[in-house]
Amino acid sequence: MSLTLNRPDLLRAQNFIDARWRDGLDGRVLAVSDPALDLDFARVPDSGAADARAAVDAAFAAGPAWRALAPRERSRLLRHWHDLIMANQEDLARLISREQGKPLAEGRGEVAYAASYVEWFAEEAVRMHGDQIPSPSPRRRMLAVKEPVGVVAAITPWNFPAAMIARKIAPALAAGCTVVAKPAEDTPLTSLALIKLLEEAGLPHGVVNLVTASRGRAAEVVDEWLADPRVRKITFTGSTPVGKHLARESAGTLKRLSLELGGNAPFIVFEDADLDAAVEGLMAAKFRNGGQTCVCPNRVYVHDRVHDAFVGRLCARVAALRVGPASDPASQIGPMINGRAVDKIERHVQDAQARGARVMVGGDRVRDEDRPGPNYFAPTVLVDVDGTMACTVEETFGPVVPVTRFRDETAVVALANDTPFGLAAYFYSRDPARIRRVSDALESGIVGVNAGAIASESAPFGGIKDSGYGREGSRQGLEDYLQFKYVCEDV
Ligand code: ADP
Repeated sequence: MSLTLNRPDLLRAQNFIDARWRDGLDGRVLAVSDPALDLDFARVPDSGAADARAAVDAAFAAGPAWRALAPRERSRLLRHWHDLIMANQEDLARLISREQGKPLAEGRGEVAYAASYVEWFAEEAVRMHGDQIPSPSPRRRMLAVKEPVGVVAAITPWNFPAAMIARKIAPALAAGCTVVAKPAEDTPLTSLALIKLLEEAGLPHGVVNLVTASRGRAAEVVDEWLADPRVRKITFTGSTPVGKHLARESAGTLKRLSLELGGNAPFIVFEDADLDAAVEGLMAAKFRNGGQTCVCPNRVYVHDRVHDAFVGRLCARVAALRVGPASDPASQIGPMINGRAVDKIERHVQDAQARGARVMVGGDRVRDEDRPGPNYFAPTVLVDVDGTMACTVEETFGPVVPVTRFRDETAVVALANDTPFGLAAYFYSRDPARIRRVSDALESGIVGVNAGAIASESAPFGGIKDSGYGREGSRQGLEDYLQFKYVCEDV
């Protein structure tokens, strides 16, 4: 099936390096597939080390002029980019849905979400205040000045092909950094379209460069950036093993790092919760993008006293979810990104069943004439889940809700924290004292209290422990791209 865009020129098939659209230097190509059908529909370069180096050459050369530009000018470029993204929302949503699989309505939502970061950092670009420090002598002036860190390498995952690129490139540009970027191999087209719009917005030569690569060659591209002392920062969203690899390998050139890694989010429903609100919050948090977000609840703990009522209402909602391709406007859960992803979900469900969990809804792959591809998995509710099961230890990254019964607040908080990860945590309660206590006790970068949809461009998004460090969005999101210079001035 062909991809129809209002602007066919947004479908790009080349790298963008030093303001030129170019094939990969050794001519290799990467096929992009539609997860709904598991069929290839486009090709982009499968880049290697030479392309990666050319991208850094361009970004490094562009650095001095870009950082010297007035913040207001950088802000204007970002504002213009934002407006172009929103003007092309429909095409970008189609690209996202086609290469990533999320329903079109969610694709549109992602474009608006991506644009919100660009707008936010357009506004922040002119507010990078430093400090004047009270000095011990009238002759001495002491300043803490903020400067851009330099060339930034951005490496992004497939689950939010527009938002992940936008929330890395926008703050980098606002801060005065130049960028080399590599999108995930599953979803290169959205990022290329965004770069096309950035070019149209008036991006100066070399300020942002993007290369695409297959999973097999991702390491070759990124290793080149890791080894290059001109790259001063890595900003990465993806898995914890790759994040740790980047941290280790960037030690040689002591780069700054922002790592937004895996999660294992708990979702706790206390006995005093508003159950309808809790079901609503769980549906919003769990089933966004088919369960393929790093802040999706991965473990649901429900108090014994409300367990059955909660599970009953939850199952009714989950059973009603429509599974189907992004092209069908009625779809609420699209295909999973690829076969590896579905295999993992299936393994988790089977492992839970083998260890005593019961399937209340779903539990299997879905394949029929409406959904002919191999990548659909039915929205699933499991009960009687315990901490020995893979689905509570690893991130399932799919439409599976594993429910565990609990009786005691202290014990459930200990369970919630009993993981190496610490990205998001959620709980529902109406008791103010408990709300304070539990928010304080949860070891997590983000806590949703009676709230399932928590992401916002104005809030600091990021984790602790094995979920990484650094924050995206908010005032703090800009700080990650800045370094202080202390200027001590005697006159
Ligand atoms: P996921 O499991 O969500 O695909 P990954 O961490 O594997 O998460 O991928 C996130 C990003 O990291 C992608 O852009 C991918 O190409 C890239 N990546 C994967 N392996 C490596 C590696 N060894 N070195 C550098 N980048 C990698």
